[in-house]
Amino acid sequence: MSDRDGKIWMDGQMIDWRDAKIHVLTHTLHYGCGAFEGVRAYKTADGGTAIFRLEEHTERLFNSAKILRMQIPFTKEEVNEAQRAVVRENKLESAYIRPLTWIGDKKLGVSPKGNTIHLMVAAWTWGAYLGDEGLKRGIRVKTSSYTRHHVNITMTQAKAVSNYTNSILANMEVTDEGYDEALLLDSSGFVSEGAGENIFVIKNGVIYTPDLSAGALNGITRNTVFHIAKDLGLDIVQKRITRDEVYIADEAFFTGTAAEVTPIRELDRIELGAGSRGPITEKIQSAFFDIVGGRNPKYAHWLAKI
Ligand code: PMP
Repeated sequence: MSDRDGKIWMDGQMIDWRDAKIHVLTHTLHYGCGAFEGVRAYKTADGGTAIFRLEEHTERLFNSAKILRMQIPFTKEEVNEAQRAVVRENKLESAYIRPLTWIGDKKLGVSPKGNTIHLMVAAWTWGAYLGDEGLKRGIRVKTSSYTRHHVNITMTQAKAVSNYTNSILANMEVTDEGYDEALLLDSSGFVSEGAGENIFVIKNGVIYTPDLSAGALNGITRNTVFHIAKDLGLDIVQKRITRDEVYIADEAFFTGTAAEVTPIRELDRIELGAGSRGPITEKIQSAFFDIVGGRNPKYAHWLAKI
């Protein structure tokens, strides 16, 4: 990914993609204390491009940094503008945007005190994370043998770099066995989230999702689904969910900036509902794509034009 044309915003400068490099003694590379965001820009109905819920993503990035006791040396406005600028500079009609903040290479003791804090924003074209087919037919998920972080081990409301070792292990474990994505349980055995997605299940017309005490990230797509459900007159209940409740659900789906709204058709080789994208999931998915694509004026304020 590094050897290509394009521009990356790095510490306030727009630099050539190939030159966006850091030193091997970078603190975050050794100890994993850093934070990032995953943001998407979509082509909109008016022919332009807009970043979806830009302010909320930037807010979460600053909150992640706060939790990790890192002081980002830029304002939120500067970080918003950096994200717009990379999409513009790389002439992207739609994009996945990756802001990342990290601790520098001034010293390598575990304590980051006295070290520098950096920020970069890159953007590139990235299609459906779990595949176009997955969006239509649903994906096959397996419960991972790895437990999701306990809320007092790593900080689960931070989108912290180090949290993703857990996601990588879970994802590799199940994709090696031919599944599309992993579901992780919390340390008490309740459903938490996917390796990079929040989960929703539907039973008898009611939508359920784990409350955040299960260690799931407070997803921005998750929140978007709360709004969509309200508009559709559907109830959402946040509660502890067991894995067998998922087995007997009528429908289930994952949400995430990368994964968007992806139906789950199978968990642990048990078909969920009819074993395909369910009707409520389809409605929510279609409402989601209308919103991000600028076809729902009610949510025009969520679209930051490039
Ligand atoms: N949980 C995890 C672990 C994630 O990595 C993501 C993706 N950021 C999500 C949930 C979904 O969050 P969002 O909808 O804000 O992208």
